[in-house]
Amino acid sequence: MRRLPLLLALLPLACSSPQTVPAGPNVLLVTLDGLRWEEVFAGADSLLLFDERHTEGVETVAGEFWDPDPAVRRSRLLPFFWSEIAANGRLYGNRALGSDGVITNGKNFSYPGYNELLSGRADSLVDSNDKIPNANVTVLEWVNRQPGFQGEVAAFGSWDVFPYIVNEERSGVPVNAGFETGSGEGRSERERFLDEMQPQVPSPWSSVRLDAFTHHYAFETLKRARPRLLYVAYGETDDFAHDGEYAAYLRSARTTDSMIRDLWTWVQSTDGYRDNTWLVITTDHGRGSGDRWVGHGDAAWAGSEFVWLAVLGPGLSAQGEMRDADFRLEQVAATVAERLGLDFTTSGDVAGPVGL
Ligand SMILES: [Zn+2]
Repeated sequence: MRRLPLLLALLPLACSSPQTVPAGPNVLLVTLDGLRWEEVFAGADSLLLFDERHTEGVETVAGEFWDPDPAVRRSRLLPFFWSEIAANGRLYGNRALGSDGVITNGKNFSYPGYNELLSGRADSLVDSNDKIPNANVTVLEWVNRQPGFQGEVAAFGSWDVFPYIVNEERSGVPVNAGFETGSGEGRSERERFLDEMQPQVPSPWSSVRLDAFTHHYAFETLKRARPRLLYVAYGETDDFAHDGEYAAYLRSARTTDSMIRDLWTWVQSTDGYRDNTWLVITTDHGRGSGDRWVGHGDAAWAGSEFVWLAVLGPGLSAQGEMRDADFRLEQVAATVAERLGLDFTTSGDVAGPVGL
């Protein structure tokens, strides 16, 4: 914990900086773009892992991720999910157990998916990934307008379309996405180092940066500005999948799991956040199956309409892997608001929260 100068420490509490201890409750909303429910609940897919067309260096990759037991396999892929969240939270979307997570937008690609999960309803007018400012109000924008929450919301994304999805200009929610560096005063040495390094580490993609940058920019803001609602949108999984690189897709998912664990470890060791913060993790769409795992979208990519959801937080009755419990992607927005003590359904015709 940061040590205050003696003089500051002696000032009455009312004079302390508003950023030191958030009143809580708080929410970390996290998405992993296009990570399939199949891998979340069963780990590496043998059809893809042992097929050289999808997996380069099969022997090494199998050593990292394979086990005949799906419960062991998924723990190798997502250790934080299958230890901390499975023990203390809930995981929805294992279709093998009768828990279906479904998309309602019918498009099954990113902008319609993020719009649905952030604004609480599908919009047929959102039908491309073009950089069009979102006409819909996301839960991030709505929360940022609620009394006591102004300036308490921040968003970070690897994909450069997030400033449009969140409608940064209208919403007033700061969005750092794509290849943006940081801005503003009081930034840490680590943030300035990220600014310097990001242009020197080439991304394989033109519109998506590597997730490590998104993660560390978000983490530094969490530590410094202490927002009540932080959204972190990791992107690599989808892009490695489109590239047909199964090993990179798996390794990216595993790395993101460790990043989420790092956020959670900090939260649980920090006054104001400890036992006062919810973690909500989901995805914007699924993917096809078999050789069609690389893509998602219309009926040619059957299965990409299925998603998953993980929730962890104070007082939640831990049920681990959910059975016979369906949810819709559009419910995520109201679920996030409800964890903050707010009712997003008062904002209009939006889906209600997942019953927790
Ligand atoms: Zn995609």
